[in-house]
This record gives sequence, C-alpha cells and structure tokens, in this order.
Amino acid sequence: MAGIYIHIPYCRQKCHYCNFFSVASGKQLPETMDAICEEALLQKNYLKGLPIDTLYFGGGTPSLINSSHLNKILETLTSSYSIAPGAEITLEANPDDITQKKLDEWKAMGINRLSIGVQSFRDEDLKYLNRVHNSNKALECIQQAQTTGFHNLTIDLIYGIPTLTTEAWMGNLEITRGLEIPHISAYALTVEPRTALEVMIRKGKYAPVDEAQSVSHFKLLVQFMQDNGFLHYEISNFCLPGSFARHNTAYWQGEPYLGLGPSAHSFSGNSRQWNVSGISEYIHSISERTFPIDSEQLTKVQLYNEYVMTGLRTMWGCNAHEIRQRFGEVFYTQFTGRIRKFIDSGLVTESDQDYKLTLSGKLFADGLASDLFITDGH
Ligand code: SF4
Repeated sequence: MAGIYIHIPYCRQKCHYCNFFSVASGKQLPETMDAICEEALLQKNYLKGLPIDTLYFGGGTPSLINSSHLNKILETLTSSYSIAPGAEITLEANPDDITQKKLDEWKAMGINRLSIGVQSFRDEDLKYLNRVHNSNKALECIQQAQTTGFHNLTIDLIYGIPTLTTEAWMGNLEITRGLEIPHISAYALTVEPRTALEVMIRKGKYAPVDEAQSVSHFKLLVQFMQDNGFLHYEISNFCLPGSFARHNTAYWQGEPYLGLGPSAHSFSGNSRQWNVSGISEYIHSISERTFPIDSEQLTKVQLYNEYVMTGLRTMWGCNAHEIRQRFGEVFYTQFTGRIRKFIDSGLVTESDQDYKLTLSGKLFADGLASDLFITDGH
C-alpha cells in the first residue's frame, strides 16, 4: 500500500506562527492546479503501481480552492493510479472556507475525512495566531460537517499560546469532547525562525511563549484524552479506537508515498525527493516536463535514525528484534545499549523487545531519539 500527498500552497493570509510553504496571493492558482495534474501523470511510475490506500490534500489551505480544481486533481489521480476501494481521502479545511455548498461538493466527489484547522475555540487566541476565523465559525462548521455526514473528522488544536490560560485550555478540551470528534491533533506553539511571531516577540510587541506553560498544557491534554477513551498513538495525535489517521500512520510506519505540488516530499522506501519551494519555478519545470526535484538515496544509517525518530514518537515504539532484522547486529547492540540509561531514568519502558516512551519521555522525545542516532562510522 502507498499514499499520495497533494500540497496546495495557498492561504487567505499568513498565520503569525506559520513556516509551511504557502503564499497569500492566489494569482497563479489555476496554473498551479494544472501543473499538479500534469505532475501526477509525470510521476505515475514513482509508486510502481502499488495500490493507493490514502490521498491527502494538505497545505496551505486546500479548502480555499474551488471544487472544479479539486475534482480535476481527483479525476487525474483516479484515472492514472490504482486507488484502493475504501481509500481514505482527507482534505485539510479552514473554518472560514467551510460552507454547506462546499461540504456537499466534497462529499459528492468522494472526500471522506476532513481535517479542520480550529486551533482554539477562543477569539483571543485566534487573534494572537492571526487566524482568519472566529470561535463561532469554528463551532458552527464542525456541526455543519457532521450534519452533512462527515463523521471521520479531526481537528487541530494549539496549546502553549500566551493568551491561553490553563482553565481556557481545559475549556477548549471540554468543547472538543462535547463535539464528539474521533481524532485530535494537538501541537505546542513553537516560535519558528523568520515568522511574524518570532519578529513580534523579538520586538516586544507580543508576549513570548512560556515553555513551562506548554509542558503543563501537554500533561493536562494527555490525561484528559486518556480519561475520555482516546489512544495517544503519536506525540501530537489522539484518536478513539479505530479512528487512526491512516495517511499519517503509514508515514510513521515507513510506507512509501508520493508528494505532488510545490515543496511536496516523496519517499520510495529507500530514497527521498522534494519539489522546489517556489510556485513559478514549479510551474515552469512541469511545463518543460522536467521534475522540479532534489533527491537523496538514504543510507542504512539514515533509515535506522528515521526508524528510531518516528517509532519512538508512536504508541507502537521501536522493536529491537525488528532493528536486528532490518539493520543488523551492530545497530541492535548500539540501540539496546544506549537506550538502557533512559529505561533506568524512567523515560522509556521495555517489554518483549518493544521500547516505548513514558509520559516523561514524551516531553523529551526528539532529544532522546537523537541521542540514540548513529552517525556514519557509528
Ligand atoms: S492556514 Fe495553515 S498553512 Fe496557511 S498560513 Fe495558516 S498555518 Fe500556515
């Protein structure tokens, strides 16, 4: 099985914290959509005819584009790839774009999962983040989506926002529970370099992000989701049993995927490639029928490091037997030796060769994984 990711690099306005590749001017939007269809045909052999189990429209803001463009991309994919029956087809949607007309059109064209960028149910936080929508719209669009028959829904929430007190964060979680949504992605607000947020904090115009507040929100989140029957299946992702995001889970489990559109990344199982992060360059390259890509062949060391990084972030953890089989004895010995100190300090559990992060370990997931990385030459 394999997946296809389609990157729609347009947004109504730039959120203050965002460092994804997207632009707020839609001048080249129609040409970009045509180029994505063209790229889908050019890249037809990348996944070697594997059945496609998941399609994911991400961005940027896919809900911004009109349904005829979306339909054209879907038709191109359906006619040139073998889409598996029951494939998961996700569309990222922002509350301000969601109308009854669009919901009906998305349903009619076979989109069966919506990922709604709520971020917060409070206007104060939405203003801090420079989101377009308000809290009423966030609530209304979720209910409208559910009434239209979109029950496979996920929402994004952000915690650690300076305007979000602990009580307010718990309030956001309570509202989420009341809406009966089966999947939630929750992220700590991070201040990325060269974002508007970074500049405004540096100039003293915005309150800085407090790490201790983020940690406290994360702990409350994990407890709340657990108390309400959600599986914490990846550091930032929670679902009711059976409602895993199939597309993202396949990433974390090392399945191949093809990325289409400016800046999209692809993974073949042993190599990566990524499209140029420039809309004009992307359109020009596709019009010349050349791939706008850079690529790299992954070494065994890189594949091992990725396995450790992504595996530890999930509830399935890393398996020492699998490491021995896939990467060999040296990697096995390094892994089981180096992880011992984290078991002793209560950050990792070990059972039947499975190694998983404890709640304390999850707070240091990336640093802990990089401590287990192997460099070429070990
Ligand atoms: S809508 Fe998403 S992709 Fe667009 S600017 Fe905001 S965070 Fe970035």
